[in-house]
Amino acid sequence: MKNSPSILVIYTGGTIGMIQDAETGALKPFNFENIYEQIPVLEYLHYNIDFYTFDSLIDSSNMHPEFWIRLAEVIEDNYESYDGFVVLHGSDTMAYTASALSFMLENLNKPVILTGSQLPLGVVRTDGRENFINSIEIAAASKDDTPLIPEVAIYFENRLLRGNRTSKLNAENFNAFFSGNFPALAEIGVHVKYNYNYIRKPNFKKLIVHKNLNYNVAILKLFPGLSENTVKAILNTEGLRAVILETFGAGNAPTDKWFIDLLEQAIKRGVLIINVTQCKEGAVEIGKYETSVGLGKIGIVGGYDITTESAITKLMYLLGDGYNNETIIKLLNQSLR
Ligand code: ASP
Repeated sequence: MKNSPSILVIYTGGTIGMIQDAETGALKPFNFENIYEQIPVLEYLHYNIDFYTFDSLIDSSNMHPEFWIRLAEVIEDNYESYDGFVVLHGSDTMAYTASALSFMLENLNKPVILTGSQLPLGVVRTDGRENFINSIEIAAASKDDTPLIPEVAIYFENRLLRGNRTSKLNAENFNAFFSGNFPALAEIGVHVKYNYNYIRKPNFKKLIVHKNLNYNVAILKLFPGLSENTVKAILNTEGLRAVILETFGAGNAPTDKWFIDLLEQAIKRGVLIINVTQCKEGAVEIGKYETSVGLGKIGIVGGYDITTESAITKLMYLLGDGYNNETIIKLLNQSLR
């Protein structure tokens, strides 16, 4: 008989792991070893659940690439011992972490499900309880000994979304995440409905963990009135290797000569510039409007329908692996994970 699934829950911090101090009423992190007191129903799942708690728990606004490396190492060190991983994480930068992990964990063949909550687990109306239980169930789900979700995903409210396709959209609603350009991997109601056509297939190759991240990158968000000095300051940042240019609509930008010239000079100095739309749905189509023709001519790379979170972490990974610009441009145009 097959053993019950074993899941490693990795707690990084964030709202989900908080309870109210009985005396002061302040929120404080609780010890996950006592999870069965918080969520007694977990016993009924009959899974082997272990916990790894980071020694310094962080609000995810303090997330950093160095932390991603430690997180990837925890998964790597425990990869053979568990069927799946649930990462408890603050929601604020969860989409960045999910994107980063997806690129760092090449040949991932097991579920890495990130979840969190808008209300702490220790609060009566918490959304954390459902998010936690459903994430564990999804991380444990398999068919013919093969995990159903061999990829990095975010579970929130009632949907499982591909990690590197997701953004946080709502600071208040339980339904906080959005994936405008890719369907949900699973929808959870009375039944868990997996959208098998959209879930990656396992490749059964050995996990490779990429631990070099180069974060000499920047995001330049366009707005009407953006000044020459600001653009200059960003593009002339010392050591800068790549910039996400967050454009309007289908990848459009002002046609002012000073603007195009500054971008062109940066590209000539070897800075990669990727055109990512500010829209949450739809894609960049360089050349569709006159206002993007100039961008294409000077060698800006079209990000198509990538999220900013995914683009910035994909760049960190590709730059960190030491590829030359030509190869990075080729890989930016491919779906790697
Ligand atoms: N500020 C918190 C964090 O991202 C919010 C949350 O946990 O959802 O860590």
